[in-house]
Amino acid sequence: MTTRSATPVAGRLFIGGDWQAPPGARFESRSPSRQDEVVGVFPTATAVEADAAVAAARRAYPAWRRSSRIHRAELFDNLAQLVKRDTDALAELMARECGKVITECRAEVVEGLHMIQYVFGTGRMPIGEVVASEIPEKDAFLRRKPWGVVAVITPWNFPFAVPLWMLGPSLLEGNTAVFKPSEDTPAIGQKLVELIAEAGFPPGVLNLVHGDHVAGEALVRNPGVNVVLFTGSYEVGRRIQQLSAEQPDRIVAAEMGSKSAVIVCEDARLELAVTSAVISGFKTSGQRCVSAGRILVAEKIFDRFAEKFVATARRLHVGDPLDPAHFTGPVIHRAAVEKVLSYNELAKKEGAQVLLDGGRMTHGVYARGCYLSPFVYRMDYRPGVRSIREEVFGPHVALIPFKTNEDAVRIYNDTDYGLSMAVITEDYRAMRLFREECDYGMGYVNLPCIGAEVHLPFGGVKKSGNGHPSAAGLIEAVTHKTAWTVNHGTEVKMAQGLTTEIEGSPT
Ligand code: NAD
Repeated sequence: MTTRSATPVAGRLFIGGDWQAPPGARFESRSPSRQDEVVGVFPTATAVEADAAVAAARRAYPAWRRSSRIHRAELFDNLAQLVKRDTDALAELMARECGKVITECRAEVVEGLHMIQYVFGTGRMPIGEVVASEIPEKDAFLRRKPWGVVAVITPWNFPFAVPLWMLGPSLLEGNTAVFKPSEDTPAIGQKLVELIAEAGFPPGVLNLVHGDHVAGEALVRNPGVNVVLFTGSYEVGRRIQQLSAEQPDRIVAAEMGSKSAVIVCEDARLELAVTSAVISGFKTSGQRCVSAGRILVAEKIFDRFAEKFVATARRLHVGDPLDPAHFTGPVIHRAAVEKVLSYNELAKKEGAQVLLDGGRMTHGVYARGCYLSPFVYRMDYRPGVRSIREEVFGPHVALIPFKTNEDAVRIYNDTDYGLSMAVITEDYRAMRLFREECDYGMGYVNLPCIGAEVHLPFGGVKKSGNGHPSAAGLIEAVTHKTAWTVNHGTEVKMAQGLTTEIEGSPT
């Protein structure tokens, strides 16, 4: 097991290439596994620092945009080497700061590395297309251009990979950026910026501000920001979209919450179904955006499935995130504990048949942290039941029986969200029904509904996303497409048969 480093991180802002700790308010990042452990102390940015960071990014933009795209890509190759060098330290810091188990944190660092490698690889790929023109003397091109300054506002639960999903394509394409990590994971956010600076990215290309909604809103309100890349809750994403409506050409890419699900069909392989459902529901203590709060199970196999699912959930090892033997760690903070407990109570009031009455863990080592054990219940579907429609973001899973696959589609779609869905079946017709009829951004067959890879788009529909997927899909949000047409002839010829006659025109 890894040991805990005792020295708290000294928080700093990074503006125009200068590391600075302006006087003023400070906030602490505390470990969710040991609430008395301070991971770091950080300056709270106000609108003054947020605006200074945007101004620095604007100043750096012209030179960065004009630099060689291949040079920009090669800086990502430098970054990849640094992330490989520091993988263990990054994973440990992440485990201490956000409470995910060290093996998961390592996988997240690797995911971030994959994004960097992907971005490096795309550096030498085409940046546009050559298209035909009606006029033989004309060459027509579709070319991508960066927007300018990008604000990157991220959640705590993927504090390394999600910022890289956004910063990677943004910086490669020639945008400059201001990054505001979650106030729950500022230390890992700062470490990422330190590595990017060490990799040789010029001053002002990436700027860092720490803080909460005050710093976040200041970035969103700043007219010097062309694109806001947001990942987090629906409520905050909606607020950012509303504020951004004031800006004339503002792009907002918002990846938000979910009520994802695994659908277990009558013909499912039982072991595969249970493994997929347990991982989907309880990995990261149910705090992935794609975590399954709902497992829909064909009525005919419900009892057999529920028995195995509950038995497996009961023996999951919840504990210190620095111990790789643990399946999952704590939830992020005390407020998250209270929120999950309130949903456990709500489910009971709404008619849940409780199969595993999990909740607060307070004995022994658990007393110092924010630990919850899995809560599992059977809920027969009725419209309007909040506990099976709203995001809980914790170890809280409903098992919902269904009669036919068509019923399962209706139940699955009866939520405001649409992010991730897995179907467990051997029947290719059933698989196709769910693929075509369910609302989702990421779909899986005979797999958990978690576990994305960076070279695929990552996004959702309804309250889960506004149509700008992240990771490999992000290039669409951080560039705009231009048409560029060149005439190689010596006279003007117009498309659509438009005449070029000028003589004789009425003056
Ligand atoms: P959150 O919405 O509370 O915070 C996200 C970020 O927004 C933080 O950096 C926060 O400081 C900032 N913020 C808060 N108020 C703001 C405001 N008014 N203006 C600008 N910025 C503001 O989310 P969280 O608790 O950190 O993360 C959990 C949520 O994120 C869950 O809903 C989860 O589903 C979602 N999530 C979604 C995805 C996805 O890709 N769809 C991925 C990870 C997490």
